[in-house]
Amino acid sequence: MVAGNWKMNTTLQEGIQLGTQIKNALQDKQPACEVVIATPFIHLSKMAELMQDSIVKISAENCADKTSGAYTGEVSAAMVRSTGAQYTILGHSERRAYYHEDYDILRQKVLLALENGLKVIFCIGEVKEEREAGRQNEVVKAQLEGSVFNLTAEQFANITLAYEPVWAIGTGLTATPAQAQEMHAYLRSLVAEQYGQNMAEDTTILYGGSCNAKNAAELFANPDVDGGLIGGASLKADDFMTIIMAR
Ligand code: PEP
Repeated sequence: MVAGNWKMNTTLQEGIQLGTQIKNALQDKQPACEVVIATPFIHLSKMAELMQDSIVKISAENCADKTSGAYTGEVSAAMVRSTGAQYTILGHSERRAYYHEDYDILRQKVLLALENGLKVIFCIGEVKEEREAGRQNEVVKAQLEGSVFNLTAEQFANITLAYEPVWAIGTGLTATPAQAQEMHAYLRSLVAEQYGQNMAEDTTILYGGSCNAKNAAELFANPDVDGGLIGGASLKADDFMTIIMAR
């Protein structure tokens, strides 16, 4: 899978323009991967409509930890699903850091997303100080145990993992292909311990963090790197296309 994460970028009109460019560019291509675009909530319905006759699937970037009711400004998983979106990102480091989303909140969000028919791209990753202290494995393990390893195997089959070292997001610093491979192999071993070898092999594990048109092929060449979650470079149709075709 190659998934774009637009974050809080593009007006609705700009988003439709970018989506149209990507859709057109994909028309005569046969990518070897699933293509997902995660957009702000207000774009979802239009984008899902635009991509109806395309291979592109639409994702939200978040959803609420509550079902419905008096939670002003929140958007529920059912609302996201009703737009035609098929995925939501959850656990992005920006949401963990700026909106204080902890393990419990994320566990709730994951459950509600799945109950409402959404697939989840679940992000995990360590901050710079944790990497420097050699604690990256314990950090990602705790993130998985805290929010997704409670799921049944049937539920977990709808989870895509995205390893995003926080020190690499939007910084221009990328994990080396060797660092990415080492962590992805570790993540796969954790899934195997929890759900068995078949599930581990079937689980898509994306790399994210300053992945771009230049370094994507090298990162994706690793056996345990199944694609990428792309922030900045997904806002340029040409770069995003290059990354899709690198998978
Ligand atoms: C992200 O936010 O998921 C991400 C990977 O961002 P960037 O590619 O800009 O580092």
